[in-house]
Amino acid sequence: MTRTDKDYYAILGVDPKADAEAIKKAYRKLAKQYHPDANPGNPKASERFKEVGEANSVLSDTGKRAKYDQMRKLGAFGFGGARPGTRPGTQQSSNFSFEDLGGLGGFSDIFSSIFDRGRKEEARRPSGPAKGANIDYTVEVPFLVAARGGKVPISVPINEECATCGGSGGAPGTTWKKCGECGGTGTVSFGQGGFAVSRPCPACVGRGELPDTECGACGGEGKIHQERSIQVTVPAGVDSGSRVRLTGQGERGAGGGPPGDLVITFKVLPHRFFQREGSDIQVTVPINMVQATLGSKIRVSTISGRKVVLRIPPGTQPGTRFRIRGQGISREGRRGDQYVEVRVDVPETLTEEQQERIREFADSAGLKW
Ligand SMILES: [Zn+2]
Ligand SMILES: [Zn+2]
Repeated sequence: MTRTDKDYYAILGVDPKADAEAIKKAYRKLAKQYHPDANPGNPKASERFKEVGEANSVLSDTGKRAKYDQMRKLGAFGFGGARPGTRPGTQQSSNFSFEDLGGLGGFSDIFSSIFDRGRKEEARRPSGPAKGANIDYTVEVPFLVAARGGKVPISVPINEECATCGGSGGAPGTTWKKCGECGGTGTVSFGQGGFAVSRPCPACVGRGELPDTECGACGGEGKIHQERSIQVTVPAGVDSGSRVRLTGQGERGAGGGPPGDLVITFKVLPHRFFQREGSDIQVTVPINMVQATLGSKIRVSTISGRKVVLRIPPGTQPGTRFRIRGQGISREGRRGDQYVEVRVDVPETLTEEQQERIREFADSAGLKW
């Protein structure tokens, strides 16, 4: 999710009352100024270019601009002293979700291709450290592990920048030659909204250069695909959809930057016997008609693994629910109960003699048959 607390007007250096033409003009000027082609290997320009594009994508769209203005007015994010022309992006105030503006996906596709390339260039010419990417991962948790808490081993696929070549794809110390495909620019361009948008060159993957000797560790790809084995601690009573963030377990940061996070979403698997209703457990247990009629004691499994004796009183009807206190799920200091619903099974086959006895019973009890 893209979050921002940025003042788009300040980013473009225009007045909040600026008309569409003024916004367009400001955007074109800045986009040209900070375009990665004009600033090779300059992460600050690349960041600025991104901000400018972001600002324009909102302010140039009448609907999005109206929503943005509304949020601004409502103080969804505090602008501090931001004035047109000031260097934006330094205020740390309440965030609003970019999704609130709706349907901004389009621009990020265009821009991400440029930033992928920008990142690779940074890898070649190390600049500032950058935090590694976060990884989202869904963990399937067996029902009883979720109920009691425990650990689940997972293997997370991680694509990380190759440590041997720093993501360049070239063997350490190799010489580089200009890529023939793109003439060394690393990009192929096409027109978009008044300036050329670049996509990474497929031959050199945006590097603009090809190594004489490819990196042996990554086969020239610049990335390493690996699996990381982690024991995930599952809190007792976890529900499907709940999430935990494992700080520092994401992709490794570039240039000595901190690693990203691993964001785990739990998915609790169903159990063939136990069902969950909030903190309570629901089960259905079959008893036979004699147990139901005369009463009985049955042993019922609980999530703790212990069996509990449940007394079935004489004359118990099918569908009767019994409660076993405190055998539900413990959550936030409260323990749920287990509910046992009885099903009464009727014998499917009887011998002639057994049938005769049942008829005798029915006659004596005045039951029609
Ligand atoms: Zn490598
Ligand atoms: Zn190329």
